[in-house]
Amino acid sequence: MIPDVLVVGAGPTGCALGTYLARKGVSVTLLEAVERPESVVGESMLPGSGPIFEELGFDTSDFVVKHGAVFCQGGESVRFDFKEAESPKFTSAWQVQREVFDLRWRELALAAGCRIVYGKALGADIPARTLQTTEGAMTAGRIVDAGGRSMWLSSHLGHRVADPRLKNSAIGTRCRGVTALSPEVPGDITICCIDNGWIWIIPFGGGVASVGVVMAPACTLRGTAEERFAAAIASSPDATARLAGAERIFPFRGLTDFTATSTTFHGEGFALCGDAATFIDPVFSSGVLLGLHGARGLAAALLSGGAGDLDAWQAEYRDGAGVFRKVIDHWYAGDFMTLALAPREVQKPYFRRGIVSLLAGDVFRAGPTASRLMADRMPTLAHAVRSSAAGA
Ligand SMILES: Cc1cc2nc3c(=O)[nH]c(=O)nc-3n(C[C@H](O)[C@H](O)[C@H](O)COP(=O)(O)OP(=O)(O)OC[C@H]3O[C@@H](n4cnc5c(N)ncnc54)[C@H](O)[C@@H]3O)c2cc1C
Repeated sequence: MIPDVLVVGAGPTGCALGTYLARKGVSVTLLEAVERPESVVGESMLPGSGPIFEELGFDTSDFVVKHGAVFCQGGESVRFDFKEAESPKFTSAWQVQREVFDLRWRELALAAGCRIVYGKALGADIPARTLQTTEGAMTAGRIVDAGGRSMWLSSHLGHRVADPRLKNSAIGTRCRGVTALSPEVPGDITICCIDNGWIWIIPFGGGVASVGVVMAPACTLRGTAEERFAAAIASSPDATARLAGAERIFPFRGLTDFTATSTTFHGEGFALCGDAATFIDPVFSSGVLLGLHGARGLAAALLSGGAGDLDAWQAEYRDGAGVFRKVIDHWYAGDFMTLALAPREVQKPYFRRGIVSLLAGDVFRAGPTASRLMADRMPTLAHAVRSSAAGA
């Protein structure tokens, strides 16, 4: 008999976990601070999430289909199509407006038998398996924090560790009148590099797109959100071309996206999942995939209840997240773009397969997969490309 589970956060991670557990007869309560889902970040999905959507019957039919990703730098651009991924399972994904996506997750969890209580977790007494909340004390057999990147339970228990290198901030909004330019195929995400940062353009159809800027600490953009946003766009010929004539239709959201993880993802009476366990820089749109994959694995470990299952879950989850973490260092070192923009005659055939497999989120398969090999070899390959360019 699996004890009842109290999950903090009815985002994609919390709802996926709740759905998996409730469908197996576990009593699940989701505690959620916000009654109406909002237009938060996390809008570009990876093909790696597809099998989980399918398994849970999550309806993606009305979302814009994403076939690939375009990367631009100083007027040069390159497109990667998911069809080039190593695994034929990972060929397309979706762009989602989170207010719609998150509501659908809540509906799925409710249909599976979860209960949603609206209120905020304020504190925890883990040995007593009790949360202090705005709705009073709540007790359960196990408490799971899926409350996002504030990582409040991990911090409260002293498990949160900030990444020494990735301390970025971001500004996001939505625009209309955004133009899709070659080599983009409708639905692709576009990433435009700027000095010490990058811009995302995530299309929702009809010229409406989520547009945002991520800034590393060395980024020199200053001023109000509006001023920094405008200066970032102006500094990228690629973004300027796509946003010429576009207008902003949402207020700016200011975000810190400090990468952080937890020394442990579980302990006596508690577990951490999704961003609440580990949050990685968003350049490869990996957040929702990691949260959903983590939720599926955590549900399986809780349901099997065997000693060591939670340790195995944590190891597998960390390992997959670790593949992205490695490549993110290569991104900020410039190696990713060096390889991506390398002339075709210099690129080896496995360059693109490795890059696309990473972009597709193929990070959880064991063995020498194209993603893992690329994550390990990217700096060496980029060095070879630079040397060949210098010798040319
Ligand atoms: C700038 C930026 C861009 C990003 N872009 C992408 C992208 O394109 N693709 C992608 O996959 N990911 C992206 N991410 C990451 C993505 O937003 C997250 O990984 C994803 O939303 C994690 O889902 P989650 O369910 O774990 O947490 P969340 O989506 O944050 O959900 C947490 C839920 O918990 C609730 N909650 C929080 N605290 C409490 C509390 N104390 N009590 C009760 N409820 C609480 C919240 O209201 C929320 O509903 C981006 C992140 C950033 C910062």
